[in-house]
Amino acid sequence: MTHLQLAENLLDRLLDSELTKLDEAELRTLVHGIERLARKAVAASAEALVEISDRGFDTRWGHRNGRDLLIDELRLSPAEAARRMRITTAIVAMRTLTGDQRPPVHPDLAAGVRAGVISEAAADTVLSVYDKIPAAVDHDERASAAASLAEAATCFRPREIRMLGDRLLAHLDPDGQLTEPSDRARHRALTLSPQDAQMMSKLTATLDPATRAKLDVLLDTWAAPGKHNPDDPCPTDPDEAARTDLRSPAQRRHDAFSAMLTHIIATGALGSSKGSPAQVVITIPIDKLERMTGVVTTPSGGTIPVADAVELAGHNHAWLAVMDLQEQPLYLGRTKRLASHAQRIMLDIRDKGCTKPGCCLPSSWVQAHHDTDWSNGGATDINNLASACPSHHATIGAGPHQWSTTIMKSGPYRGRVGWIAPAHIDPTRTPRVNHLHHPDELLEQVRQRKRRGPSATDDPWRG
Ligand SMILES: [Zn+2]
Repeated sequence: MTHLQLAENLLDRLLDSELTKLDEAELRTLVHGIERLARKAVAASAEALVEISDRGFDTRWGHRNGRDLLIDELRLSPAEAARRMRITTAIVAMRTLTGDQRPPVHPDLAAGVRAGVISEAAADTVLSVYDKIPAAVDHDERASAAASLAEAATCFRPREIRMLGDRLLAHLDPDGQLTEPSDRARHRALTLSPQDAQMMSKLTATLDPATRAKLDVLLDTWAAPGKHNPDDPCPTDPDEAARTDLRSPAQRRHDAFSAMLTHIIATGALGSSKGSPAQVVITIPIDKLERMTGVVTTPSGGTIPVADAVELAGHNHAWLAVMDLQEQPLYLGRTKRLASHAQRIMLDIRDKGCTKPGCCLPSSWVQAHHDTDWSNGGATDINNLASACPSHHATIGAGPHQWSTTIMKSGPYRGRVGWIAPAHIDPTRTPRVNHLHHPDELLEQVRQRKRRGPSATDDPWRG
């Protein structure tokens, strides 16, 4: 008789026994013992699953994997099957491809489930807490946390394990995002990846329920087949448009999202940023515009093909700044007459941040400085304005220990803002420009140094 048959026969006898004959203490022992058996059965089932999958029987029986076997053959719900698989991979010793035995990922949890002292739900709670441990936590701390959680699972209910887990996570990540008790607000997030080689970006979000509900409203309507299809922008017959829409659901959701952004920008509802209307401003060097080739940068430092930028400007009333080859603003195409805003935008485009050599503060931090002071008759003209961060703005003045600025009249940086150090720092009083917002120039400096070799007189900031 196999072990399985033996165990089943014993259980059958238990089921057939007269419970009325048991006294209070015996009944208590019985209910504890049966629960222990059920938990051990989870461990036994996990062992069997791994053996089946190691020998490829699950696929031979027509399942894609062990999870499908649990769902199709043992009729577990997808959630139950997912939980069983999660626990299985955590508590069973796996065989590697070379045939060696690797200890379970969670040895303490494995021991507890095998001994019948940790339930399936408790084990699953331990694993969900463990999954939230930040990746930066080192191996030893992680192992010690896993041991504490497994210990907790032998004497606490899942809810208590979760609370204890929150405390443990707070200890592991004292100033991180995981310190508060479980709270949806804490986990809300929206992240945008850098653009990849194809200029595509990955948007990842964890939405709170209200935001999700609003997004569902948008997608239910705008992502429907035939709606906002770039291949069929002005359909005459909506039914025909829906029928001929070849986009995947994911592509339709993307197009609905893009249409939402177009709509919001066009309504002007975004208000203003730094006194300029919140708009997409794209700088296009004139040679690229003439050839309609290459890529250009957006104000946030992203890139976009020239043809797409022109298309965007046409449809969205975006601002399109056309620059000459020295990257000096020549012309600012726009739909509204806002001269001061335009100047501000031109400053952003020309300076891209604080103009003091070596300062890395971006446009959002700078003030417009009058090169010839307003009180001395200086005009608020683009060729009399310079971007400077507040602390560097404060160092500019006519005093002997103060800096001054000038617009470069010639040389490779013509039109840019040069900074002149006070005489005690630079007796030659040579104007210098900031390259930190113009990485191409830094690259060119490096190329020149490689060609010529560094020389004592080399001054990369010199205008
Ligand atoms: Zn600065």
